[in-house]
Formats: sequence, structure tokens, C-alpha cells
Amino acid sequence: MPRYDASEIEPKWVERWESEGLYRASEDPADTRPKFYALDMFPYPSGDLHMGHAEAFSGGDAVARFQAMRGYNVLHPIGWDAFGLPAENAAIKRGIHPKEWTYQNIEQQARSFRRMGMSFDWTRRLHTCDPEYYRWTQWLFRKLFELGLAYRKNSPVNWCPKDSTVLANEQVIQGACERCGTVVERRDLTQWFFKITDYAQRLLDDMDDLVDWPERVVTMQRNWIGRSEGASVIFTIEETGDEVEVFTTRPDTLWGVTFFVFALEHPLVQKLAEIGGTWAEVEPLLERVRATPLTMREEADTKEGVALGVNAVNPVNGERIPCFVAPYVLMEYGTGAIMAVPAHDQRDLDFARRHGLPVRVVILPEGEARSADEPTEAWDHEGVMVDSGPFDGERSPQSIAKVAAWLQEQGRGRATVTFRLRDWLISRQRYWGAPIPIVHCPEHGEVAVPEEQLPVLLPDDVDFRPGGDSPLARHPTWKDTTCPTCGEAATRDTDTMDTFVDSSWYYFRYCSPGNERAAFDPAQLERWMPVDQYTGGVEHAILHLLYSRFFTKVLHDMGFVSFTEPFPRLMNQGQVIYGGASMSKSKGNIVMPAPLVERWGADTVRLTILFAGPFEDDIDWKLIAGDPDRRPGVTSWLGRVFAVVGEAADRDAEEPGSLRRITHRTIKAVTGDLERFRFNTAISKLQVLTNEMRATLDAGGGAREAASALVQMLAPLAPFAAEELWREALGNPESVHASTWPAFDDALARQERVTMVVQVDGKVRDRIEVEADASDQACRELALASDRAVRAIDGREIRRVVVRPPKLVNFVTSG
Ligand SMILES: [Zn+2]
Ligand SMILES: [Zn+2]
Repeated sequence: MPRYDASEIEPKWVERWESEGLYRASEDPADTRPKFYALDMFPYPSGDLHMGHAEAFSGGDAVARFQAMRGYNVLHPIGWDAFGLPAENAAIKRGIHPKEWTYQNIEQQARSFRRMGMSFDWTRRLHTCDPEYYRWTQWLFRKLFELGLAYRKNSPVNWCPKDSTVLANEQVIQGACERCGTVVERRDLTQWFFKITDYAQRLLDDMDDLVDWPERVVTMQRNWIGRSEGASVIFTIEETGDEVEVFTTRPDTLWGVTFFVFALEHPLVQKLAEIGGTWAEVEPLLERVRATPLTMREEADTKEGVALGVNAVNPVNGERIPCFVAPYVLMEYGTGAIMAVPAHDQRDLDFARRHGLPVRVVILPEGEARSADEPTEAWDHEGVMVDSGPFDGERSPQSIAKVAAWLQEQGRGRATVTFRLRDWLISRQRYWGAPIPIVHCPEHGEVAVPEEQLPVLLPDDVDFRPGGDSPLARHPTWKDTTCPTCGEAATRDTDTMDTFVDSSWYYFRYCSPGNERAAFDPAQLERWMPVDQYTGGVEHAILHLLYSRFFTKVLHDMGFVSFTEPFPRLMNQGQVIYGGASMSKSKGNIVMPAPLVERWGADTVRLTILFAGPFEDDIDWKLIAGDPDRRPGVTSWLGRVFAVVGEAADRDAEEPGSLRRITHRTIKAVTGDLERFRFNTAISKLQVLTNEMRATLDAGGGAREAASALVQMLAPLAPFAAEELWREALGNPESVHASTWPAFDDALARQERVTMVVQVDGKVRDRIEVEADASDQACRELALASDRAVRAIDGREIRRVVVRPPKLVNFVTSG
């Protein structure tokens, strides 16, 4: 009888699988199997694999293996997201080169993945820091530059003083650097951007194609893009005749405007303050706020502001209203000037209170009369328009479109749409990234490096310590080159690209890796894309997923792909925490998977993770396997599986019908579970089947069919144990992972039905057909639904219910 010993079987199968090329995706055109692209978010090489990786990849691998057994030609690749700040910072701390640090970690993680038996197609392996890869990242930059989608502009940006680099808006979390938590500063710099805003509407519209995404991720992206409909309206400055455009989502409140506010950077501010005689008060405010980071200003004191001493004219009624300048109005959103409606906007109301400005109600809740008192809170809900000229009595917000159309007719504005989404800032003043393939020529300006000169190699001999400027600029010769257009002396761009550029297209490269003539082969993209199942952490809800969706749309528009969404199905696994807190060095509660795999075996680590609960929920490692000296329960279950399968294989006795029914029922249920990432419930059903087999064998019956099915269903979850049993105990020549997923016989899978007796006070009143494994609750409900029982109870109080599922329910009444 086979004995379960992970340390003996696991290393053996790793080698066999690789020598047999078991997990290689087939490129044979004659292979008619449908394709399945199983993609896991590729890891960042910041050390060995951590528990989060072990969890995500155990789930992703189970999906890939399950789909292969169901007859799909599976593509399950692996690579490393290997450029970027964390590697560079870690290398600086250790006094070694980022390249050395990165490749060391990649090798370490690759060894750990192999040891865990991940079913990767290793022939497609890629690293984003390899010149063979970033050559094509630079090629994509070039394409975006040609299309006008990559451009450089001077603008206020978020600067992390600790990391000495700019950050994209997406990388600033509540005013702090996403990487190091330092409060970001504001700087005016000339930087490269990708014009993701051109795709804002499509990024929203195509959300209909995200057939299976977690709702919260869709919502986060929708809010990040932040579309708002409204109107742009022209106000005129009385003193100067300047026309100032404002954008409002509430043109229906135009008759309630009582003042006007400019952002500090609005180009008219100084001129108007000088005319109004208020520059002496405005200037110091300007100086102070200029030093505040942009993201902090969103939480600015909404009451602060200075009167400019000039008036604006409201275009709908010709009223003169005072103008202010205030930090709560941002130049980056809308037009940098707002019309203020204190009765219907809380921030405007706060400001009006502080500065003694009038409040005019123009929307009343339905059926409510006007009150003589000033409102204590802004009313921003639906209602009926009042004191609004031609629109009195119109219902709001339905009237918004009508007012916008009227403004357009009158030549005082137009209907518009705005977005919160900003362009993606992609230049970084750091070393460890793909150089931006641009040459600056005194004569020709920004010139893209020609395709045949790519890659622009990242030099090794650079002082990469952060210091305010780009490390590449400090290299004595690297930046010196000639202009591709005129051949005269010119300089290279010395910034590198945000790592999120590298990770926005890696899943395309997997489809035709190693292609030396192109970033990808369009025929292979059509063969494998879009991804059938994407698995990874929710921390990428905005950054990586939004950028990847943008890149895919750009490639679609360039004619490279026929589809517009790369990942129609997305699964976010939960986090692995410890003792109620996330694992971190500072808390000293980090558990690494590698030593546990050595001690317990990879199958046990995988099963422990997958059995802990629903895949998308957090797992508290302390609760499920906190003591490394105690083998988790799944190990002893695997031991029992080895025993029953071994016994079943050696026995010729007939398999009883009851076991066959349970086997087929289990196949049906586990198939459904694995389709929906319900690994935990699948495992508990397999444990029940194991117990049934044990009972059958002990009673002298056979269990060969059950043994085969159990081993096959175990294969996606505990691939080593299943393989050992399939080939060694059950004597199959081929791998279990290449076998066909067991089918179930519907007649056998159907629940057996038995007769249940319903009694009232001990007298039989009804007989009902119920499922053999009906629960306590189900039996009770079925009995209560019986007309005969209800008639017998005759309204008396039920004192007690005796339930013996599935045979009997007895109602004991007060009668
Ligand atoms: Zn930072
Ligand atoms: Zn030139």
C-alpha cells in the first residue's frame, strides 16, 4: 500500500513533468482543442515568494489544471515585473546593483514556483528588465508618440522627496507616496504623459464587456474616471469684459448663483486682483498654497478665500456677483473657475457663511413651501425649480439637459461632459527602468529613436543613488548621441518609464515570446487573447488594470487586435494575514511559504490555503496553521486518500450502488465548485467521498471507480499526490494532468428520494418524498408546508418539533 510522503514524491514529479513538457501550450495548428488563457498577475521580484503569491498562484494553478483536464489547450505563462523603484531601493540599501538584486530574486522565485509544482509553460518566461523585452516597450512608446498619445508638457506634478521621483496621480494615496508613504510635494516639471483621457469614454462604455469582474473593482474604476455631464457657461467680468468659462454639473441652479470663485493659478487672478485693488491680500495666499501638494488641496479648508474686488455678470439674469479666489477650487479640474450656489452646494454654503454672502434657494423639495429662514444645509437632491425665469416649476434633475440646451440656443453656454481622469504621467527620474526612446535635438526638438536602433540600452555603469535629477543624466557619455533626423549632436532623454508601462502589455508578449522581429505576432494574439481568466490582487484595481485596458484599446485602434478588453474575467483573491493584521516586517509576523513547503510539502501548503475559506476572502494564517510543528489536517486527509486509493486499486469486489451515487454526485458538485473558485467546498466534498470509500472498503466492497474519480478531482488542488496515486497506485501510463476530467452520470448523480412521515402529536398525518440527504431545516419546512399536517394542528401552538431527517417530523402541540 502506498504511504504518503511528500518529500519523496514531490521533487520526482517536478522533474518528470518538465522532461515530458506537460504544461507547454500547443502551437500545433492541427490541435483543435479550444484555447484557455489562464493568467496570474506576474510577480515583482522583491525577495522570495510570499504567502500572497502562494495563495494567488495556488488558485490560478488550480484553474489552469482544471481547464486542461476539461479539454482546453491551456496557456499558463509566467514572467517577472522586474523594473522599478522597490528593486532599486532594496539594491541601494544593500549596496549592490539593482540588476544583480533583481535577477537573484527572480531565480529564487522561479525555484520556489518549480518546487510548488506550478503548471507554467516555462518556455514563455519573460522579464520586463531584459533588453529583449524592453526593446518592445520602447517600440510601443514610439507608436504612442507617433499617434500623438505620448507627449511632454510642463505641469504641476506630485513629487516624492524620499524616492526622488515624480508619481502618477494613481500612485498618490491620500496625499502620500504609494510606495513609501512620504507626503508628496508639488513641483512644476516637464514630463512625459500618455493621453489616457482620449479613451475616458471608451474605458467607461466597454465596462459592459467585463463579463465577470468583482463589482467593487468596476465601481472603483468608474469613480476614478469620474464622468460628469453638465454645461459650460460663460460669465463676463464687469470691470474688464473678460469672458470666463465655468463647468457645472448643475446648470439648473444657475439662478441661485450668488458669487464666483477662481482657482489660485487661474491666469486672470493677478490682473483682476490688481484692478480690484486686492493684490496685497491675494499674493501671500498664492505663495502659501503653491507649496502645498495637489492631492492635499482637495482636502483644503473650504472656507478660506479672498475677495478680488471685481464682479462677474451671471449670463442668465444679468446679475452682478462678487468674485473671490480660493484654494478649494482646483485649476486641474474643470476650468479653474466656478459659479457658487450656496443653497445647493455644501462647500459653497460653508464659504458663503464665512464671508457673509447671500444664499438663494432655487430648488425646493417637492410639495414644500419656501421658508423665510436661511437653509442650514445645502439641498442637493431632486426637487422643483423656483425663481428660475423660464424654468419655474420644472423638475430637477430632469431639467438639467433642458437648461443646457437653452443655454446653447441663447449663445450663453453649451452641454458638456467632463472627466476626473487625468493623463498618465509616465516619466521617472530614476535609474531602474526602460529608457524613454527620445532624442532631443536643438533643431528638431523631440525625435523618436528609429525602430531599428531599439533598444536604447540601459547602461550598467551609472551612479543610481537618488539625487533629484535623473541618474542617467549623470553618466558622462550615455546621453550624447546624434539626431536621427539631421545627424547633428543631440542628447537622449534621461528619464525612464514608469514600471506600469512594462506591465501594461506583458500578457500580449506571452502569446509570441522570443519573437525578435515584432512585439507580438497578431495571429498568435488572435489565437490566445483575450485572457480567459485573470487572477490577482485587488491592489491593482485601478493602476494596472486601467492602464492595460487603455493599452489594449490603443492596440485595437492601431489594427493589431480585434478585441478591446484584455481581461473579461477577473478574480481577486483575498489577503493572507496573521493574527488579524497584514503581514509586515515591522510587526514581525511574516510567514514565508518556502520553509513550509520544505517541511510539509507543496500539496499541503496549497490545500491549506485553498481549504481556508472562499477564495476572495482574507485568510488568517495564525488561525489555520499558526504552529509550523503541527501538520495541518489536510496532510492526514491526504494520508487517508493514499490508503483508500491503494486498497481500492488492489480489490476486485463489486462497487456498491450507494458509493457510485455519491461518486457521481461529488463529480457534479465539484465541477461546479471549481468553475466558481469554490475550492474550499470542493475539498470538503472530496473529504466526504474519502470517508464513504473507507466505509465501503471496510464493509468488503470495491471502490475503483470512486478512487479514479477522487484522484482526478484532487489533481488541480494537490497535483503531486494525485499524480503519484494516478500513475503508481492506479497504474495509468499517462499523467493525471493530461487525463480527461471525469464525467458524471446524471441518473446516478440525482439525489435518492425517501419517504418522510409527518406526525402531529404522534399520529401519522402525511407522507412526503424528500431527498435522502435533506437537512434538518429542509425536513421541518417541508413538513410545515403539508396541508394535512396544518389541518391537524388546527391553529394550536406548536410546543416542540422532533426532526429525524430524512425519516420523520413530529409536531407536538399545546392540545
Ligand atoms: Zn516615495
Ligand atoms: Zn536634428
